[in-house]
This record gives sequence, structure tokens and C-alpha cells, in this order.
Amino acid sequence: MCALASSLLFSNVAAAFRTAIDSPDFAGTQGAIAWEQPEIGFFLSREGLPPGISAAETEQALQAALATWSAPECSRARPFFAGWVTGLPAPSDAQNTIAWVQNWVDRSLNSAVPGHTDILYEGNAGIWQIAETDIYLNAEEFEWRAGGDDARTDVQAVLTHELGHALGLLHPCESDGSDGAPVCGQGGDVEAEATMYPLYSPDQASLATDDVEGLCSLYPVATDACGECGRFETCIEGQCRVVCAEQVCDVGSLCGHWGCVPAGGCLERSCEQQSCSDDSACGPLARCKSGVCKRGNLPWGDRCASSPDCANGACVGGVCQPDCTLDAECGFNGSCQLATPATARGCVESGRYPLSSMCSAGADCQSGLCVFPEMGGSCTVACGAQSDCSSSWTCENVEGRSVCVPPRYHLSAGCTVRDGNSGGLGSAAIALVLASVWRRRKQRVAARFCGSRVG
Ligand SMILES: [Zn+2]
Repeated sequence: MCALASSLLFSNVAAAFRTAIDSPDFAGTQGAIAWEQPEIGFFLSREGLPPGISAAETEQALQAALATWSAPECSRARPFFAGWVTGLPAPSDAQNTIAWVQNWVDRSLNSAVPGHTDILYEGNAGIWQIAETDIYLNAEEFEWRAGGDDARTDVQAVLTHELGHALGLLHPCESDGSDGAPVCGQGGDVEAEATMYPLYSPDQASLATDDVEGLCSLYPVATDACGECGRFETCIEGQCRVVCAEQVCDVGSLCGHWGCVPAGGCLERSCEQQSCSDDSACGPLARCKSGVCKRGNLPWGDRCASSPDCANGACVGGVCQPDCTLDAECGFNGSCQLATPATARGCVESGRYPLSSMCSAGADCQSGLCVFPEMGGSCTVACGAQSDCSSSWTCENVEGRSVCVPPRYHLSAGCTVRDGNSGGLGSAAIALVLASVWRRRKQRVAARFCGSRVG
């Protein structure tokens, strides 16, 4: 009785399918890693057609494989044949291409496999999507057929399997347990009958239930309140939210020059004269007064509390300065420093700043010494003993140099004292440049191989 119960349990393994989030490459990632748009076009290359199969037969097999993946009603994925192209696929050419390859071994592809799929992912704020995929068919090591049932490899079966990868499915198991997958042979029929099983079978031309469940987990027919979110949006708890640089904005907020902005707020760098409901709609350089974004009246060089006090520019170290995003905007001897509030930056003049002022390079400081420029930077002075430093500062050795360290820093690896000779951009400035654009952290993930031919 016990044996029967456990074998029933075993054969009822609910799902075997795996997707990219199950791979160690994407450990900790949330949500489905799939194509954002359900219509996904695939081109066929005219190059490298092997003997025994025609271009028309290849297209016919592809059309059939695409139709197979488009058929399940629980999925909105609609991969389609986009046409013929010349030339071989190129990674990052923004085109999904399927090609016969005659120089398979020269390309360092595994000679035991009939097909190979390359997938390019792009991510933003921890949310990943498939950006491009190319499929290669091994015309060098394999004999192919389209239709029939002889011992040659069936192109439709291989294309169906590879298209499963191209849509975001991994193998349900790996023979060696690689890629964080279970070792094949433990998942029963659910695993073995799947089109995504790593070993070739001519039966892979039709989908098993597990393949359909995997597909529908990646491309569910919209049932939540989100429906379909836009390109720079993500669905959180049923609502589309804008992703702005590294930040997910509040419901209804948009992505402006300085980050998330309430709907109806100013998205530009200069918001002066734009209509507003409150200060947050005016960016960091202006305030909302009587429904209009306005600047202050203090000229450059005057003391300020925050950037909207200034008639122009930003408030840095308590002084109105020209605003900037890069050191290069601040002239040969200037640097671009965080202002108040810290969402904007302003130029500071080199060599001008006394002890404890913010700095990004030694050249900013009267002393020529800037401690911890990577962490915001403070102008400091060299010290021989604790008595050389003011009361709350400590005389410490920072990378071989004794300097007074302000209380806000803790010594840690990788911090440096920058002397007056160093130039270039501060790391904080570089970080801001990155944050001001849609970050495309493209990552080419290791190839997903089909297993070797059985029998
Ligand atoms: Zn495969």
C-alpha cells in the first residue's frame, strides 16, 4: 500500500519545466523572464542549406514549429515567420535569425548536438527580458530530413525544441545536473515526454502538457488588472509601474530627468514656469508657488539652504553654483558635486574649498587633499598626530597616507585619498550618468544545448 501510494505521487509530479529564473545565472530575480511583446518574429537565413533538404522544406518545418508554440490557448505568445534573410546571425543585431551552419565545429559548438540557441537578455532594476535570440542548425555533423520517418534528424522536431528555448524555456533536467537543473531520469514521464527534454526525439515536434504549462507560465493570457504594461513599466500587485533608472516609481508617477515625478509634474531638467500642484512636481531646482514652478532669487556665490533658493544652478556646500551632471561641465579646474537636495549637482571651483567641504578630487581643496572621494569626499589635511586634527576628526592612515578623517567615514577597503594631481571623473559623477539613462545590462548567457542524438 505504501509503495503504491509513493509511486502514484511520483507519477503525479506536477511540473518539470524550467525557465531562466530557475538558472543560477538569474538567482534572486523576480517574475518571468520572457519576451515583453507576444509577437516574436523569426527570420530564416538562406546560407548553408545541407544536402537532402530544400529551402521550402526548411520554411515549412519552421512554420509548423511556430504554429505549434502559438497554439496553446492559455498563452499569448505568437511567434511568427518574419521572412528570409541573407547572411548568418550576428549576436546583438536585434534580429532573431535561424541559420544552417556548415562550420559548426569551427564555431566551437558542441558537435554532438543538432541545434543550438543563443539568447540575449537585457535587464533593468532586477527585471529581465529576452532581447534577442538566434538558432543554429548543425548542417556539418547531422543528416537532416523534413517529414518522413527515417533515421535522419527531423528538422521540425529540432526547431520546435530550439524555439522553446528562444521563448524562454530551459531543459527540465540536465544529464549532468548542470545549470541548477535536476539530473535527468528522476522526473518520470512528465520530464521525458517534454519537447524541452535535452535529448533529441522525433516526437519533440509536438508539445507535451509540461511544455504548454511552461509556455503559459511565461506568457499568461492577461487576467490581472495590469493587462499589458508598457516597455518601461512593470506589473506590481496588479498595477503597471514605471521603472525609472534604478527605481520603480509610485503608481501614476512618470520618469523625468531627475527621476520619478508625480503625474502632471515636470519631466524636464528645467521646470521653471511649468504648472504644479506641489514642490515634488518641480524637480530639485524649483519650488511650486501659486501653481507654477519658480526659482529663487539668489545669484551664484550667495549663501543658500537648497537649490530652489538659487536663481540659477544648484546649492552646493551652502553656495549657489552652476548646475551640472559631469565634471567636464565645470571647466578645467572645477568638479561637479552633489547639491542640496542630492538629486541635483552643481559645479565647485578647484582649490577653493576649505577643510570639511565636499570634494571629488584633491584639486578641489585648498589643502590639495580629498579623502574618500568615492563616498562623497571631504577636504582634509595631512596629520602627524591626533592633535593635528579638529576634535571630532581622527588622524588615520588611509592607503599609506596619514590624514584627518571626518567622523562620518569609517575606514574600509578600496577608499583612497586623492591628491591634487589626479584628474578624471569622480565615481559619483559616473554613477549619475548611468542612472540618467535606461540601463541595458546585456548579458550573453551560456549556450543552451540540445542533448546528443539518442540511439
Ligand atoms: Zn535544448
